[in-house]
Parts: sequence; structure tokens; C-alpha cells
Amino acid sequence: MAEIEIRNLRKDFGDFTAVHSSSFTIRDGEFFMLLGPSGCGKTTTLRMIAGLELPTAGEIWIDGEEVGQKRAAERDIAFVFQMFALYPHMNVRQNITYPLKSQGMGRAGIAAKLAEVARILGIEDILEKPVGGLSGGDRQRVALGRAIVREPKAFLMDEPLGALDAEFRERMAEELRALHDRINATTVYVTHDQLEAMQMGDRIAVMNAGRVEQIGPPQQIYDWPASLFVADFIGSPAMNFLSFEGQVEAGGAVVGIGGVSQAIPRQLDAGAGRLVLGVRPEHVRLHEPDAARIQGEVIASEYLGTTRIVTVQTAHGTVKARIPAAENARVGEAVGLGLDPAAITLFDAESGRALLSEANREVLADG
Ligand code: ATP
Repeated sequence: MAEIEIRNLRKDFGDFTAVHSSSFTIRDGEFFMLLGPSGCGKTTTLRMIAGLELPTAGEIWIDGEEVGQKRAAERDIAFVFQMFALYPHMNVRQNITYPLKSQGMGRAGIAAKLAEVARILGIEDILEKPVGGLSGGDRQRVALGRAIVREPKAFLMDEPLGALDAEFRERMAEELRALHDRINATTVYVTHDQLEAMQMGDRIAVMNAGRVEQIGPPQQIYDWPASLFVADFIGSPAMNFLSFEGQVEAGGAVVGIGGVSQAIPRQLDAGAGRLVLGVRPEHVRLHEPDAARIQGEVIASEYLGTTRIVTVQTAHGTVKARIPAAENARVGEAVGLGLDPAAITLFDAESGRALLSEANREVLADG
């Protein structure tokens, strides 16, 4: 098991910087997610940790040892790719035990390890089957078996569930997490799927254009986004953003949005100019129109079973409210918006950073 620390890690491809100087520590036994849109540098970061890509600058420490100059094979890490390449001419048992045979382990040792791995993965009954006819889930279990049988210091996984259909993917995500809880191996997992990251990760690093924007446990990332990018990337429907011209006093808790005073107790640094108020759809309620609230007109209403998503056009942008399905709002109706003050985050429109108070920033830094 291992702690992985990266210090000022950077990767250039010619003139293009795929990963800007980034530093963070993945704790021993942690399930750590690298999350972000396509091309943000997740895979490149993972490949540098694995030793498959040489950093342009920076250091990688595994278990207190700088491994920058070590070849991939010497880092004692298992890399699980999206497409599980099993040896097609071998059966399940041979596939799983192959790494141990290549290490020169004796028969008895191999048999004991195989039994343990097969039990952990629940594949005792398919050990003698050829891998060709296996279902996708069993193939994945065999590939994982081959990775865990070596007891590496850490697992690196690059979109391992990427090729699976939605239902199956959810099941395998649950299995992977359960497996992690059983063997407690440090795992770094790359995904562009925010739900997968939230469902499985102990902590998530959200990446954008080669930079880590925020690191924290899923709920912290969701509730306290540090930037407009994170706020927008996490959550479905996405967070609402109301853009306005305004001024916030340091420590102040009220901003004026087009004549409406909105309390924001999370507050905040001082800020002036173009600001963005962010609030998630579940923290918006619909009321009768009233001058003390931001007002708008309902332009859409989607029924989703237990909830309904109502879209309201306001002078500051559209706002989606997630309301109980039993309540309704007619298209064309005028409404006032009730925003839960405790759930609002204010952002500086230019820098995109959240305007958080010192105390709140400390909470985030602890993530
Ligand atoms: P994806 O999920 O699409 O793989 P990602 O976040 O994992 O996205 P990376 O694969 O790390 O992104 O790629 C980051 C950027 O670096 C991309 O713009 C990609 O085109 C570029 N890149 C990656 N490998 C190379 C390479 N060998 N040569 C040149 N550019 C590269």
C-alpha cells in the first residue's frame, strides 16, 4: 500500500502544456478520482505516475521514494486500461496466475493466491473457462484479478468502465468500490463521468485545461465549488448562474441583484463588478411573484417522476428549480424565486473563483 505524492508535475508536448505544474498527495488506501472533460490532462497525469510518460518537470513520490527515474515495471503499480486485454488463448486461471508465474512464485504459493483472489472477486466457478466466451463483467473481474494478485502498491485505472453500457457500468462501479473497501489499496481512477466520480471516490481532483481546479470529498466539491468551472461540471442539471453587476463588502452577507437584496451567509471576500451567483436547482423554490424576490417567467416544466425541473427566464439568466413532482408550474406563469441563502456561492465573473471567507477557505484546504 502506498501514498503517492506529486510535486510541481508538468508535461509539455512540444509547445502545448498538457499538465501545468500540479501538486497533490493521494493518501494511503484512498480511492482518488481524476475527473474532468476530455483533453484536460487526466490520462497524461496518470501515465506519468505509472512511469509510461516522462514528466517535463516535477517529482513523483511513491511511499516516500522519488520514482521519477524508475521504469514503469520497477514502480510496483498495476495499470488497468479501458479495454481489458486478457490473453485469449489462456483460461481464467491461467490469465490470473500469469503474473505470479512470471515472478517465479512456486506452485503452492500460486494456488493459495489464486484461491484468495477468486474468492474476493466471486469467480471461483469460472476458473477453468476460456476467457473468450465470458460476459463483459466477468472479463472485467478476471482483469482485476490479474491486477490484484500481484499485490501492487497501487492501482491506476483509466476509464475502466468506459466501454460498458449504463446499467452494467453502475453495477461494476459498485463492485469496484466494494473490492476497494475489501483490499484497501491506493487507487487512482481517471474518469470524465461526474456521477462515477461522486459514487466511487473518497476524494476527487477536478481538472480543467491541464490544471487541478479543486480537490476534495464528493460532497464538498458539490456543495462548495471553488470555481465556476467546478460548479458547472458537477451536478445535473448544472448549477444555476445569475450574472449581475454588484458590490460585496468584505464579510458582508447581502448583495443587491437588480434591486433585490439577497442574503448570502457563506460570505465572503470583498468583490465588485461583474459577479455570478451560483445556486443548485434543489435550492430554488417557486413563489408568487413579489418585489422582494428575483422574478421571472416559467418557460419549461419537465416531469421526472419524483421531481420536476422547472425552467424560469429571469433578467439575469435562466434558472432551473427542482421541485416536488406534485407541485406544478405552468409555462407562461410569472413566479418569484426563493433561493436558499445557505446554499448560494458567489463567484467573481472574471477570475471564475468563488468569493469565500477565510474560514470557508480553510474548510476547503483541508479537503
Ligand atoms: P481523454 O479522456 O480524452 O483522454 P484526458 O483528460 O485524459 O482526456 P489527456 O489524454 O491527458 O487528456 O490529454 C491531454 C492533452 O494532451 C490533449 O489535448 C491531448 O491531445 C494532448 N496529448 C496527449 N498525449 C499527447 C501526445 N503524445 N502528443 C501530443 N499531444 C498529446
